[in-house]
Amino acid sequence: MKKPVGFGSLCVHETRDTRSNKPHTLPIYATTVFEFESVQQGMDIFQGKEEGHIYSRFGNPTIDAVAEKIALLEAHGLQIAAEGLLVSSGMAAIATLMLGVLKPGDKILTQGNLYGGTTELFARVLQPLGFDLVYADLKDLGQIEQLLASTPSIRIVYFETPANPTLACVDMEAIAGLARKYERYTAVDNTFCTPYLQQPLRFGIDFVVHSTTKYLNGHGNSTAGAIIGRDKSLMKDKVWRTMKLVGTNCNPFDAWLINNGLKTLELRMERHCSNAMRAAQFLEKHSKVAKVNYVGLPSHPDHELASRQMRCFSGMLSFELTGGMQAGIDFINKLRFCVLAPTMGDVDTLAMHPASMSHSAVPREIRLLNGITDGLVRLSVGIENIEDILADLDQALLP
Ligand SMILES: *Cc1c(COP(=O)(O)O)cnc(C)c1O
Repeated sequence: MKKPVGFGSLCVHETRDTRSNKPHTLPIYATTVFEFESVQQGMDIFQGKEEGHIYSRFGNPTIDAVAEKIALLEAHGLQIAAEGLLVSSGMAAIATLMLGVLKPGDKILTQGNLYGGTTELFARVLQPLGFDLVYADLKDLGQIEQLLASTPSIRIVYFETPANPTLACVDMEAIAGLARKYERYTAVDNTFCTPYLQQPLRFGIDFVVHSTTKYLNGHGNSTAGAIIGRDKSLMKDKVWRTMKLVGTNCNPFDAWLINNGLKTLELRMERHCSNAMRAAQFLEKHSKVAKVNYVGLPSHPDHELASRQMRCFSGMLSFELTGGMQAGIDFINKLRFCVLAPTMGDVDTLAMHPASMSHSAVPREIRLLNGITDGLVRLSVGIENIEDILADLDQALLP
């Protein structure tokens, strides 16, 4: 090691070689840059002739390990060498993907019931930059085919399944097939499912995005996103380059938190699913509840499609109270165990009233068109003991 002479030099320099014997769990590499042993090594790493890190905005051992793990999970059991990138948020994942694979004049074919932030990103940021939008009912395969055939500038079909908050599903295999026929890309936001419940790559989808902030981290203490692509060179040449140059990269601490969350992903998702099924069945029988939207219930219009695409039915559900807006507000205010918070996918049960919160800025007629009625309550069912969840729902439904 270098031997510093002055006090200030001693403060500045590392005094020992920071490499140790193999750490048992993934360390947080809180370092901006990586040293080269020689000019030659620096050149080789820069030119991609030797594996190695350069600068943490381009990639970092902690971040890359987690990105790779998510890519492996999305491609689990498939003969696909998928490539993953970890970015600073779910929104950064969607924006980086679009900026990476589209050029001005290209159009995005999508649906009306996307995550609110995504709709706003498309309308307020991407559209003014020249990325146009085509909205369609993605359940209507005839309409999709007609649009792809008549509009060559549609470059990508982007959607969510199941979608917020009514859990409407669309057929990934059919849409991927049409997109491939007309040589367009497809991308799915898989945040509601995680790769444990649904693998869009299995159905021929090109790109998967995640808000890892939700189920993948699962503990509500990290904001980040992921992009997974089946084509490594497209991911490297277009998407990684955009991430590196726009600077939408994740940071090592958030990546490390996701890694901790991922260790229990299978166990958590199993419990989220079984708890949500019990909650949905309880609510469906309740006299104060007009309707339950849960893809695990045979009464959901997309139950059969979801059964084909998903391993089990996720922890997300919504339900309509018979008493409208006031009933929705009263119900949420009476909850004692479930938490009132506008996120999802955490280990604890979270409730939200879309009409007065996430969708309060949306005109009522448009809300209603998307199934967001005044009395609709959204639940992200957690992994607690089901008796506590049911008891809280039961007491909050009392007059
Ligand atoms: C939360 C969410 C996003 C945005 O993710 P952030 O990490 O908050 O940026 C995107 N899509 C879906 C479905 C989400 O639930």
